[in-house]
Amino acid sequence: MTTTNHHFEAEVAQLLHLVTHSLYSNADIFVRELVSNASDACDKLRFLATADDSLYENDGELAIKIDFDQEAKTLTISDNGIGMNEADAIEHLGTIAKSGTKAFLDKLSDSDKKDGNLIGQFGVGFYSGFIVADKITVESRKAGEPAEQGVRWVSDGTGSFSTETITKDSRGTSITLHLKDIYAGEGEGESNYLDRHTVRQLVNKYSDHISLPIQMRKQEWQDELDDDGKVVAGKGEYVLTDEYETINQATALWTKSPADISDDEYNEFYKNLSYDYTDPLAYTHNRVEGRVQYTQLLYIPKKAPFDLYAREQQRGLKLYVKRVFIMEDAEQLLPMYLRFVKGVIDTADLPLNVSREILQESRDVKAIRDGNARRVLTLLGSLAGSEDADKQAKFAEFYQEFGDVLKEGLGEDQSNQERIAKLLRYATSTDDATKTSFADYKARMKEGQKAIYYLTADNLAAAKNSPQLELFNKKGIEVILMTARVDEWAMNFLHEFDGTPLKNIAKGAVDLGELTDESEKQQTKQAEENLKPIVDKLKTALDGRAKDVRVSSRLVDSAACLVVGEGELSPQMAQMLKAMGQ
Ligand code: ADP
Ligand code: MG
Repeated sequence: MTTTNHHFEAEVAQLLHLVTHSLYSNADIFVRELVSNASDACDKLRFLATADDSLYENDGELAIKIDFDQEAKTLTISDNGIGMNEADAIEHLGTIAKSGTKAFLDKLSDSDKKDGNLIGQFGVGFYSGFIVADKITVESRKAGEPAEQGVRWVSDGTGSFSTETITKDSRGTSITLHLKDIYAGEGEGESNYLDRHTVRQLVNKYSDHISLPIQMRKQEWQDELDDDGKVVAGKGEYVLTDEYETINQATALWTKSPADISDDEYNEFYKNLSYDYTDPLAYTHNRVEGRVQYTQLLYIPKKAPFDLYAREQQRGLKLYVKRVFIMEDAEQLLPMYLRFVKGVIDTADLPLNVSREILQESRDVKAIRDGNARRVLTLLGSLAGSEDADKQAKFAEFYQEFGDVLKEGLGEDQSNQERIAKLLRYATSTDDATKTSFADYKARMKEGQKAIYYLTADNLAAAKNSPQLELFNKKGIEVILMTARVDEWAMNFLHEFDGTPLKNIAKGAVDLGELTDESEKQQTKQAEENLKPIVDKLKTALDGRAKDVRVSSRLVDSAACLVVGEGELSPQMAQMLKAMGQ
């Protein structure tokens, strides 16, 4: 039998260095990571077996087992899932396929952000074992392949690992952590991962809802016997048996009735699902009976992920068909502007072999996506419109993190435009706080005012100093100040709110209608006549550079300002497109 040595990919080596040197404050997470890998492996097998039953090899009872060896100071997590062959092990446990890893490394290197909980987000969970172990042995055999084609993978978590071919009768993977002494009962203040109760508690904390049994060997009380073989009353000890017992709930949370689920359970489930370490901001759990029947459990996180705006950022929901896990990040189940939502969809109305391509085409999936979007917007609407101060605060918190993403929906999801527009909040020329809704603005409009006026700018200071505002300020007309990059683009799609037109005051002529009094109109007319010679000169001088030169009533203190034609790109928009390389 030959052993081959391999070097970790550079990023893995870098990552491992960080894992072992920076993440020790969060040692516990390795349990969650390794259990979730085992669970993923079982899900994958179950999925493949829907097409090829023989993969079960007459062992269809999928489970995860946790074993301890006090002498060898090892903790072993095994599964009878899909398993790996040597090539798989080299690929999956030697490289990092995920594109977000570089960003992860940068973030981790950032001295004060060394948070172990980040690790799962980036799909580098296996390596978390090296927080507590100075050596990891993986033994695996792939479903459907001969026992002789098993693999043993060994590494001390520094620069390299070795692999060799082994014979392994049982299908699946076992991961043995050779615990560092400080995690094997010899570290002060550190957890002892050879202790059943410690590990059991961690499983309950992190992995209770994994829909597979997680098992440990049963302990049994054994009485102490005296020399005559008689029981010594009250004396004896617990000994391990060969029998295993299930230590988690092993039910899929979303299949229970909401009345039977506590807030804590919802929160823990969310953390498991999202790798977030804080509770979600809000959630909604429903059984939808319509054209398509499905269960939806949707969460709004408290904090935006660092890659909310990255093109390749993962989004979408976990999709299950009849409780069989089908895929992660099913992006078809949510519109893009709700990409921050996490959750689970379980339906009996899709085939088990559904692929991403099929999802794209499916009308049932479209119905689910629409249902999800509406449900999230309703949830947000109920927070925003609530009398309850707590809920209002939650909405403000949400808006701070995700408000700008939500605005994308004005363009992306015109069927819900109205619903979205109701949720938007802005600063205005009379109120710096980002809390004015279009409805608030309307309620404060002046008598005779016919439009909702707004202005887009790079930031609040620029907006407030804009010459375009002068006339409005003078007349005491409030103007909404939009300062997000997305505003200009998004507002192209929103032309009115609740019957009142929306008007960008930097575009085209300002017609204040009834708010202009006769004498002002007269003045403007007079000025136009008086200034005609100057205007003509300017027109000649700026020919080709300015489309038109006009006498304007919009300025009060400034001498001149640039205005964009109705329907033309504003300077902000032009800049944004340029930055995007258009
Ligand atoms: P992720 O789970 O996000 O893919 P991990 O670092 O946790 O990232 O695992 C890396 C890969 O190693 C997995 O994608 C999988 O291919 C493989 N792997 C890890 N654990 C197991 C296991 N118990 N059984 C089969 N494959 C596994
Ligand atoms: Mg993982």
